[in-house]
Amino acid sequence: MKKRKQMITPLIFLLSITFLLMTSYKNNHKDPLDRFKTVSHYKQEKQNRYEDYQRQNPNLSTEEIVTHVNIGIDQAPYTNTMQTPFLNKIYLLTNKYLYLPENYIPNELERVDDTYTNGNKQLVKEAKIAFEQMAYDAKKEGYTIRVVSAYRSYSYQQVLYQNYVLKDGIEKADTYSARPGFSEHQTGLVIDVDNKEKDFNHFELTEEFTWMKKNASKYGFILRYPKGKEKITGYNYEAWHYRYVGKKIAQDIVQKDITLDEYYVKYIENN
Ligand SMILES: [Zn+2]
Repeated sequence: MKKRKQMITPLIFLLSITFLLMTSYKNNHKDPLDRFKTVSHYKQEKQNRYEDYQRQNPNLSTEEIVTHVNIGIDQAPYTNTMQTPFLNKIYLLTNKYLYLPENYIPNELERVDDTYTNGNKQLVKEAKIAFEQMAYDAKKEGYTIRVVSAYRSYSYQQVLYQNYVLKDGIEKADTYSARPGFSEHQTGLVIDVDNKEKDFNHFELTEEFTWMKKNASKYGFILRYPKGKEKITGYNYEAWHYRYVGKKIAQDIVQKDITLDEYYVKYIENN
């Protein structure tokens, strides 16, 4: 009896070790391609692109791979483009992969109070109301936030872009100007601002910029092309360009410290 007990104990020990080793082997040799499927916004039809992008960017996390590929940045700007859905919604997205129809004019465009512009600027009503409130509150604290560009039509953007291409060539123009149909200004949800003293492209150096950094999201605006996110947005850093997305999304984006492009593929596109 005693001898039998002595044999069982090492047997259990041996079985346990074998089990542990097998489990650990299985975990370490899980099909590596399967891990993309664990990301909530995974898309079966993009599996090959996830794999290619992962090989080119071995340091990115699985989630970053899926997010970037869903945005489209594994491919050159302006390739694989499609018309953006959710027209006339405040969460509509345009970037170098999603464009607006040539004849798209947003609903409810209204002229912004000239007190806060350099003359005749239009925004979608909801964005206009939010902006005027923001500019009014800033003014009370002694800051001047003035709109120098807002809604731009397709044809106006076409002229702008063509002039930039003539001046700087396509490659350079693409880093700072959108091609017609791809400009966020056509949504009527965007403002370029200055403080009336410095040119808009020096807005970063103003006290108004600091004020916007702290307060814009409370009114539903986000800095659309932040520093350090150029690869994701496809645009140079623009301290003067703000996009209206509504308070909830704006505050969510600030809190998560992500771009609208990332937010869109994670929380909007599939919901
Ligand atoms: Zn702009």
